[in-house]
Amino acid sequence: MTASLQPGATVGIVGGGQLGRMIALAAAAYGLKVHVFAPDADSPAFEVAGRRTVAAYDDAAALAAFAESVDVVTYEFENIPRPTAEILAARRPLHPSAAALATTQDRLTEKSFVAGLGIPTAPFRAVDDAAGLARALADLGQPAVLKTRRFGYDGKGQRMLRAGEAVDPAAVMAEFGGQPCILEGFVPFESEVSVVAARTASGGFSAFDPCANEHRDHILARTVVPAPALGPEAAAEALRIARAIADALDYVGVLAVEMFVVRAADGTAGLVVNEIAPRVHNSGHWTIEGALTSQFAQHVRAICGWPLGDPGRVGGAAVEMLNLVGAEADDWPSYLAEPGAHLHLYGKGAARPGRKMGHVTRLRP
Ligand code: AMP
Repeated sequence: MTASLQPGATVGIVGGGQLGRMIALAAAAYGLKVHVFAPDADSPAFEVAGRRTVAAYDDAAALAAFAESVDVVTYEFENIPRPTAEILAARRPLHPSAAALATTQDRLTEKSFVAGLGIPTAPFRAVDDAAGLARALADLGQPAVLKTRRFGYDGKGQRMLRAGEAVDPAAVMAEFGGQPCILEGFVPFESEVSVVAARTASGGFSAFDPCANEHRDHILARTVVPAPALGPEAAAEALRIARAIADALDYVGVLAVEMFVVRAADGTAGLVVNEIAPRVHNSGHWTIEGALTSQFAQHVRAICGWPLGDPGRVGGAAVEMLNLVGAEADDWPSYLAEPGAHLHLYGKGAARPGRKMGHVTRLRP
């Protein structure tokens, strides 16, 4: 259990992307110091951190020195190797914990854990080889979605197996490089929502209103709050699900639970959990201006052992967040000129296609 930190303490952040950058900015607002650890000298988070370590995630000596220089360690991406998490956790409180990381970074472990809580997920089977894929397809039918168990994000490491498509299991497994996979039955969802929530070591819990997420080319394009597809009952159920997951993980920090909204024959909205992100999340960026406490401030509070802030929406406003992906960021002057639009740019050099360069938040009172 973490003792409560004082302003002036140092937060260590593993990972140097825009999420780390925004955690660092929130920490600075509370008078905390920040030390970022990332392998790439060009990392956006380095620009806003007082201390930086440029080293590989498997550099044990650099990880140990980093951990010893800070008071608490957190991370901004979930693909942290287990040994890395263990080196850090042996020296300083690591939030979220290595155990929460292990559960959520493997899609099979994650789905089994969620289903074990009695929370609906897509039907799924473990797939280790071609014979396993053939068996799983026989069980679940098509359409189905084959995903690598680990290291998938933004639609990478997954493939749809469409209804009626002739599937050669050996060829498909070869495409996946023989990596351990999971096959999921296709969920005929109406829309996608997420709950961004925070939990403290003493069991304090606070969730932002569920938001609706639209993707383009598997990358989040737009988030709106409140989620149009959810009535008050489904929204409350989404928060109950997030809390059950956070409690069962004994989670400390911010997490995001992504869910599919399915429409039952009687018109009621049902929720199916797709995945858990053990970190601050792109679908929570709207909270910077749209909520009384941002997801980044909430995360910092949780990992410092401080009470959580008010997650309510500012003035009850409807909020829209647009990601600026690749060349979309070239439109920054028009967003800057737009009354009420809040522009965020992440300070990344090249606007490569598919790269998240910034975002814009609009509040509609
Ligand atoms: P994921 O990498 O699990 O977040 O999946 C990326 C996207 O693929 C999701 O946002 C969905 O749009 C789609 N998808 C993933 N799994 C399923 C599923 N079991 N059924 C239907 N669509 C899915």
